[in-house]
Amino acid sequence: MYFTEKSIVFLNGGFLNARDCSVNLYSQSLHYGNAVFEGIKSYSTENGAKIFMGLEHFQRLKYSADKMSLKLNLSPEEMLDATYELLEMNRFTDAYIRPLVYTGVDMSLKSSDEVNLFICAWEWPPYLGEKLLRVTLSPFQRPNPNSSFVDAKIAGHYINSILAVNEAKSRGYDEALLLDMNGNVAEGPGANVFVEKDGKLFTPQKGHILPGITRSVIIELALSNQIEVVEKDITPAELKSADSAFFTGTAAEVVGMESMDEYTFPIKWENSIGKMLKEQYELIVRNKFDQSKRAM
Ligand code: PMP
Repeated sequence: MYFTEKSIVFLNGGFLNARDCSVNLYSQSLHYGNAVFEGIKSYSTENGAKIFMGLEHFQRLKYSADKMSLKLNLSPEEMLDATYELLEMNRFTDAYIRPLVYTGVDMSLKSSDEVNLFICAWEWPPYLGEKLLRVTLSPFQRPNPNSSFVDAKIAGHYINSILAVNEAKSRGYDEALLLDMNGNVAEGPGANVFVEKDGKLFTPQKGHILPGITRSVIIELALSNQIEVVEKDITPAELKSADSAFFTGTAAEVVGMESMDEYTFPIKWENSIGKMLKEQYELIVRNKFDQSKRAM
């Protein structure tokens, strides 16, 4: 699914066949998770492929690389240009794009001087599917912000996500929701969370989360629909008395929740703010959103 015989990838300034790429087993990234990455999506529009919020994603990649002292040779603009080229070479319009910055052969615990930039793309439907999710509060917490740069997209952080997903699925749920170290709602393993209550939206403030690019698009979109958005600590009790809830993320897009553990969200998804914003988001990413036709 991720590559075929014909897939072209970008590696350190050049374009190669995916089959011809490999990684050294002594890479520091493999042993210690010292790598940073992005998840980006392109959509077909009337003017061809558009990489949605592309520059913002590559700026975040640079931010994450800086935090891990990994030196990138290309600017965010140059990485974005290379990605457009990559899409063209693979004849992709609707694609998921995965840039990965990984280190060289180095078993020390100081960031390796050898830094590699890999960018690949594949066709991928929305990550969490289209159906409403049965979500559970995870026994795993998001990392203490003093233990790492939790707002950077660092490969090693995703162990926490994998543990949470494995655990939630082992109990028959579709997805996990993690609390922060203080017991407040933080985020999903790969997506941010919003809850609707009395016509307003609430989402965890920055500090313990990866502040998603989709999260910021959804906040702006809600405000432009005259919906109040409050960024604050959300307790599990508040979550389990909310009217509706949804996840946002580049790969997941906007996906509604049916329930949180034993609690079923009372507002039907069809009538929720989340559903309305999901529809608008799907138009925005394809340049089809007409502000004058807003529902509210
Ligand atoms: N939180 C986590 C932990 C994530 O991995 C992601 C996906 N990048 C998000 C939130 C959503 O971020 P974005 O909207 O920028 O994709």
